[in-house]
Amino acid sequence: MTNNGINDGLKSQLEEMFENRVSFSKLERMVYSHDVGVIPDSVKKTIATMPDAVVQPVNADEVSALVKLANENKVPIIPRGAASSGFGGAVPVANGIVIDLARMANVISIDTEDLTAEVEPGVVWSELDGKLKRIGLTLRLYPSSAPTSTVAGWVAQGGSGIGSYEYGTFRDNIVSVEMVDPQGNLKVMEGDDLDLVYSLEGITGIITKVTFNVKKDEEQIPILAAFNDEKKLQAALDEIRKAGTRVWSVSIQTPGYVELSQRAAKDTTLPKGKYLAQFVYLQSSAEVASEVEDIVRRNKGEVLPENIARHEWDNRFYTMRLKRLGPSLIASELIVPADSMADFLKSVDKKFKGDFVFEGIMETPDRFIMMGFMLADESKTNYPLKFSSSLIVADIA
Ligand SMILES: Cc1cc2nc3c(=O)[nH]c(=O)nc-3n(C[C@H](O)[C@H](O)[C@H](O)COP(=O)(O)OP(=O)(O)OC[C@H]3O[C@@H](n4cnc5c(N)ncnc54)[C@H](O)[C@@H]3O)c2cc1C
Repeated sequence: MTNNGINDGLKSQLEEMFENRVSFSKLERMVYSHDVGVIPDSVKKTIATMPDAVVQPVNADEVSALVKLANENKVPIIPRGAASSGFGGAVPVANGIVIDLARMANVISIDTEDLTAEVEPGVVWSELDGKLKRIGLTLRLYPSSAPTSTVAGWVAQGGSGIGSYEYGTFRDNIVSVEMVDPQGNLKVMEGDDLDLVYSLEGITGIITKVTFNVKKDEEQIPILAAFNDEKKLQAALDEIRKAGTRVWSVSIQTPGYVELSQRAAKDTTLPKGKYLAQFVYLQSSAEVASEVEDIVRRNKGEVLPENIARHEWDNRFYTMRLKRLGPSLIASELIVPADSMADFLKSVDKKFKGDFVFEGIMETPDRFIMMGFMLADESKTNYPLKFSSSLIVADIA
């Protein structure tokens, strides 16, 4: 055995296969022993998060050979995109080999007739969107981690994001997924079989190619509305939902979230103590603007000036800057039915007195995906207790 748990034979085979694309260095392995989240020490003690090796394959054949080799040697493998999920899925629990897919980041083809993109797993959303825009196309939807996160990471983690109000979850937009199964065989998943790979955190295979729908590019126009309380916010959202207003994306922020994000950004643009709702519509549905604004005003909301709406839209990727105030950030992701949003927010506020703040994306007209955040300090003894608050919030949801 080497000093890091992989036997010398396997180490030599990995070096022969991957040359300078395999690393056994302690420093590099440490980088791969966590993701964007912070696991409490008490939990960390029960698992082995340090990988024995990190490998960066460049094609599906290499992934297949690696899976077979790991099988023969009974060594765990852990696929990793940008490690932005924060739930530990890309982090080892029993050492093993991390498969970093960053080098498989080619856009294979873009079909301008069928409006689909075929890409390698490590393609980063924002980079792909830049390429699409140059030929008059764009993404139907993307996570707000788009500047760093990868396409396969979203397949494996599952989720919804900006654009979901119109286009649903990412699952609804996938045409096919190519993956290397646990035996090392290459498979293509389509139709109902996508459920055997989507949102399963890589446990059924390593994704090597994804084909999904994109759309024609057009201007995205944000409207930002402020409400005094959660009931008025809920009433406006209910009305928009029932009217079938053709909005592309809907998201909300609680007053606590607005306050923290403004503090972290040293910004004072947004009003204090208000619930905010952002509605984004596409230029081809310009009639939506007056519909949304009428509904907001009817429900005693204020439509904020256009420059503020644009400022907030331009800042949509910076959720994690809250961490600057932490130093740690406890995050919780929850599904909340759209018609009980106000009750949910009221109950959480009663329990946590404003310490848990939220931003949410309307995944479909019927439900929200709420991201809850609580500032914490992982070096303090009360961190595990605070960490468990995320479970209480989930219970309320
Ligand atoms: C600021 C911020 C904003 C976010 N916004 C959103 C949002 O709007 N919507 C949303 O849904 N999520 C969001 N997230 C969570 C996260 O960014 C997404 O889940 C993202 O899709 C993860 O992609 P990744 O490349 O970072 O994957 P990773 O975190 O590296 O991996 C996620 C999971 O996928 C597995 N995996 C990765 N690549 C492969 C592969 N090739 N084959 C098989 N399994 C693989 C990993 O093992 C892990 O289990 C956000 C996170 C942050 C930090």
